[in-house]
Amino acid sequence: MTTLDLPADEPVKDRCGSCTRCIDVCPTGAITAPYQLDASKCISYLTIEHDGPIPLQYRTAIGDRLYGCDECLDVCPWNKWATPTLEAKFSPRELPPLRELLAWDEATFSERMIGSPMRRLKLPRFRRNICVVLGNVGIMAEDLPALQIRRIWERRDGCRARRLGDCSN
Ligand code: SF4
Ligand code: SF4
Repeated sequence: MTTLDLPADEPVKDRCGSCTRCIDVCPTGAITAPYQLDASKCISYLTIEHDGPIPLQYRTAIGDRLYGCDECLDVCPWNKWATPTLEAKFSPRELPPLRELLAWDEATFSERMIGSPMRRLKLPRFRRNICVVLGNVGIMAEDLPALQIRRIWERRDGCRARRLGDCSN
């Protein structure tokens, strides 16, 4: 913060032209118009920042995304010049199957997520997201207990995410 009277930035140039790729690809319609984002619909917001149950109308669109969404970045033609980060924290890491992740307790979550941006979720939101993804892609018999948890959670639509932690133990 500063009290300096700083000059305002120049307006950013319109470099999108007639492209609408990000608008078209967004699974939840979060980019409501050119240069306008309704963050409350964005999967990145819903799966990372949003606390509490994810609204029912967005759960199917989340698909198999456990944490965030980069669809709009993936399709943007400008990103062909992007260079991969050297930051190790953003490197992909192997995780166990979802039903095993759902059994993690606080200590396991903290230990396994050291150095990962996913630690930011904390355990209740992590479990919440697993339940949503399992509900979308889980079709194995072994997934049924987890899916039952999701059903309980959906019935308790008004419950807070931390209560999901209670009912998944
Ligand atoms: S991150 Fe995903 S959900 Fe959010 S605006 Fe981009 S495409 Fe849409
Ligand atoms: S995909 Fe990229 S270039 Fe195309 S409209 Fe979106 S931000 Fe602009």
